[in-house]
Amino acid sequence: YLLAVAATGCFGAGLLVALADAGQDNSSSGSDEAVSAGNSRKQKVVILGTGWGGVSFLKNLDSSKYDVRVVSPRNYFVFTPLLPSVTSGTVEARSITEPIRRIIRKKDVKFHEAECTKIDAANKKVVCRDSSDVKCVGKEEFELEYDYLVVAVGATSNTFGTKGVEEYCHFLKEIEDAEKIRGRIVDCFETASLPHLSDEDRRKLLSFVIVGGGPTGVEYAAELHDLIHEDLTGLYPELQKIVKITVVQSGDHILNTFDGRISEYAEKKFAREGIDVKIGSRVLGVSDESITFKSKATGNLVEMPYGMIVWSTGIGTRPVVADYMKQIGQTDRRVLATDEWLRVKNAEGVYALGDCATIEQRKIAEDIAYLFKLADKNGDGTLSVSEFVDTMNNVRVRYPQIDLYMERQHMKGVVGLLNDAIKKEKDLKLDLDHFSEAICKVDSQMKSTPATAQVAAQQGEYLARSFNHLATEDPDEGPVRIRGGGRHRCQPFLYRHLGQFAPLGGETTAAELPGDWVSIGRSTQWLWYSVYASKQVSWRTRALVIFDWTKRFVFGRDSSRM
Ligand code: FAD
Repeated sequence: YLLAVAATGCFGAGLLVALADAGQDNSSSGSDEAVSAGNSRKQKVVILGTGWGGVSFLKNLDSSKYDVRVVSPRNYFVFTPLLPSVTSGTVEARSITEPIRRIIRKKDVKFHEAECTKIDAANKKVVCRDSSDVKCVGKEEFELEYDYLVVAVGATSNTFGTKGVEEYCHFLKEIEDAEKIRGRIVDCFETASLPHLSDEDRRKLLSFVIVGGGPTGVEYAAELHDLIHEDLTGLYPELQKIVKITVVQSGDHILNTFDGRISEYAEKKFAREGIDVKIGSRVLGVSDESITFKSKATGNLVEMPYGMIVWSTGIGTRPVVADYMKQIGQTDRRVLATDEWLRVKNAEGVYALGDCATIEQRKIAEDIAYLFKLADKNGDGTLSVSEFVDTMNNVRVRYPQIDLYMERQHMKGVVGLLNDAIKKEKDLKLDLDHFSEAICKVDSQMKSTPATAQVAAQQGEYLARSFNHLATEDPDEGPVRIRGGGRHRCQPFLYRHLGQFAPLGGETTAAELPGDWVSIGRSTQWLWYSVYASKQVSWRTRALVIFDWTKRFVFGRDSSRM
């Protein structure tokens, strides 16, 4: 669903750019707890995770400068935006994975296929465990010391403690999940075709429920609908009329993080296609036979028999992160809090990115608004153009990101007024309260980091550039910027939202791009194909994915249950 992945620059050319920039990019150093250039021993960097964050960091890091080790229970990277396509067989599982050892083969990096079970904050080491099927008995566990730890372990599926979810629902996070779902759909159809079943049995088996109307839930529902109506109903014609797809959504709309026009379009399209969307409904529990949910509006309880449920309602905390959060006193949250340089709060040498972390909001916006208020010498809430420009220059010294802020949608009014005042050579009438409000909105937009591949990849690239820079720079030199709370030789991480996609099935995709631009239709679907093909991690996976799409167009999807 996310165009996002586009222009993250984390793969391919991004690597070259990042390395070429290393050492001269003053804007990207991480922190002042720097790597000493004079140190003869290479600093030990341990990376936990081989997902979007970890791999983006790894690809952009100049590994010759550090002693780098990667730990992950998964020895491959998964292109998660295409996971829903694996559930329907539109693309094959192996087409969207890339072995980590291929990614690091030209790098000075060691990979260990294991799970980190504990981060020992006091002793700066991690405890790891081989959780694979083949292990050396009695020697499953080992420890790694670190100078810098990059935590990019992602997140689990959040069940909100709902009864029966763990036991009876499918999740859609990993490759195995997608393959299990694919097998289960076909199994439901085959079982429903057995001769001795009643209509009621068949209806139950062919009742597919998706809990969660976010981008993943909606994309999966659309894939399922396409699979059933383009391929399976032709193969099981007698079952066509009794198949049912239901999306249970607790919010008032599906795709509620998207532009209203997109959610409205998606709801209408689903209604036309017979996908039943139950908005404002909270799931109370799941048993082996049925799912029970309650309508918030009417208070009515609905008990619905099902053949398969896919649970897709947001993210939870991995145990290793929860344990670490206890050690460093971050117990009141779901993910690790970092500062804008991605340094974990209350920890030394530890960075976190991607789904397992969030940047704690600082009050930059208030600082900026305050500086503008100070410039209002008459106290009448207005500034002359020259006062505005002088203040901008002052602000820019402390907050270079102000220029980026001014480009955002919320600042359009201010920029318009400013241009108008310059053109007419008159005083700028700027309502400072309104200005502060707009700056605060932009600030929270810029710093809010949704749990997406786009964010994780941008953070990985940013952090790698920081490490590259720190390894080459004398920590006592370089531009020093004074920021509230400390001295930093760098700009903080700023998230650039590049837009998002919502595939809606039937060769239709919706895209939301920066600047309030929305596009829905078949041509957007082709844009989606090209973006996702171009963002593949390697030429190998790019070729495989394009081949799978072509194969599906020509022969349809494969409905064998393996
Ligand atoms: P992940 O990519 O989840 O990687 C975590 C890594 O840590 C994995 O390698 C895992 O094996 C490893 N790990 C786990 N536990 C441990 C441990 N204890 N020790 C060591 N390693 C560990 N985002 C978009 O922007 N666009 C999309 O279209 C999109 N579609 C999505 C579709 C689906 C079905 C899903 C599930 C997600 C989608 N996302 C999308 C979200 C995106 O995948 C995540 O935001 C992104 O993967 C987060 O990256 P990450 O590096 O934090 O975590």
